[in-house]
Amino acid sequence: MNRISVKDARLAPAIGSTGVVQGWVRTRRDSKGGFSFIEVNDGSSLGNLQVIADANLANYESEIKKLVAGCSVTIEGTIKASGGGKQPTEMGATKIVVHGWADPEAYPLQKKQHTLEKLREWAHLRPRTNTFGAVTRVRNCVSRSIHNFYQEEGFLYIHTPIITASDCEGAGAMFRVTTLDLDKLALSGSKVRTELDFFGKPAYLTVSGQLNGEIFACSLGKIYTFGPTFRAENSNTSRHLAEFWMVEPEVAFYELTDNMDLAERFLKRLFKDALNQCGEDMALFNEHYDKTTIATLEKIVATEFRRLPYTEAVEILKASGEKFEFPVEWGIDLQSEHERYLTEKKFDGPVILYDYPRTLKPFYMKCNDDGKTVRAMDVLVPKVGEIIGGSQREERLDVLEARMAEQHLRAEDYWWYLDLRRFGTVPHSGFGLGLERAVQFITGMANIRDVIPFPRTPGSAEF
Ligand code: ATP
Ligand code: MN
Repeated sequence: MNRISVKDARLAPAIGSTGVVQGWVRTRRDSKGGFSFIEVNDGSSLGNLQVIADANLANYESEIKKLVAGCSVTIEGTIKASGGGKQPTEMGATKIVVHGWADPEAYPLQKKQHTLEKLREWAHLRPRTNTFGAVTRVRNCVSRSIHNFYQEEGFLYIHTPIITASDCEGAGAMFRVTTLDLDKLALSGSKVRTELDFFGKPAYLTVSGQLNGEIFACSLGKIYTFGPTFRAENSNTSRHLAEFWMVEPEVAFYELTDNMDLAERFLKRLFKDALNQCGEDMALFNEHYDKTTIATLEKIVATEFRRLPYTEAVEILKASGEKFEFPVEWGIDLQSEHERYLTEKKFDGPVILYDYPRTLKPFYMKCNDDGKTVRAMDVLVPKVGEIIGGSQREERLDVLEARMAEQHLRAEDYWWYLDLRRFGTVPHSGFGLGLERAVQFITGMANIRDVIPFPRTPGSAEF
């Protein structure tokens, strides 16, 4: 039998085709005229397919009239023009097979509305809700656009390691990876002998693929990584996960302005694709979560991002007359309240801040001639705040070594990184985009835990 997705079945060209639709019942309604309406969803689209089940079907009384939300079914039938209602098509069923029942007393999604917080406790069932179906399809769309964008621009996709032995630039606190028997060690009270551990030295989950990415950029030109990264910070915010996905392009011969151009082009592509390819899902977010979502994205796609040196941003903040919880002085790390003022009140759109104080940023960022700032850039967006962090990298060996000494890093731990500056060094730049922050911004979902299938946060790793 010809399998038809609900998505295709709902479109006019499907009218007249015969086949099977397979999915989960969302609702059943019995008509007085001796037939039932069944709404079926299979994940291919937000909208359900309306199925008409006639009373003369063999299992009408015994099974079909007992269908409830959550039951799984295979339905054979023909797609017809819909007699009325919202959708252009419906399916006239000739046979309905029930695969699994869902006891309405026990099935958590029987009740229509649950809070997003409650749904997090059912991460195994929440993909069956409209909201998480929509989030999942948008996340998929963004992932596809990421690859399409870089592939079309001639970037090579590099798979960087997840386990690393380098304390990757201090981008964040790290999870230790070990095969040592911690219980036994604790009992024995003996010291940890890392030379006996799996890699013969301490190892961690990576916080960024950048340093490895630089190796390939400094050999093959244009590359990107796209994979999971891990931060062991105890930050319980709506924008932080302990495990998240990061996209990190790295390009040889790119200076900071090239990097900004790339970031802007890239983000606009992601936003445009989501608007064009996920219209139905985006409409749900716009209607139920944030009425400005679609208009905001459309405006951003059409406008140039504001670019502003950190020093000017500090002056703007100081002159703003706003009462900030954290007072602004040149040299401070901007807090979310400052970022929000810039993106939401002052410029009403994305802002690329650049040339940050060198004391705030890691050793690998290129030093400016002023001796005070480095060629860093952060892309800030309304509500979410920092969505991209990047920089031009320091390609001068002596400057890099001095910076490492300044930050108490041991040159011998980074010998391979320094070799890139010893042999055929080039100016190069790159950045990291957090996939979840991007999906959060696109959908307007307030909490990052609701845009990843299985969130990992402090104290939480159930599913
Ligand atoms: P923040 O200041 O928001 O904690 P960061 O400056 O530590 O972020 P970077 O090291 O610059 O983050 O990482 C690059 C990008 O990865 C960020 O711009 C953001 O989009 C994303 N990101 C960083 N940390 C997290 C996290 N804990 N959860 C989800 N995304 C993150
Ligand atoms: Mn950052």
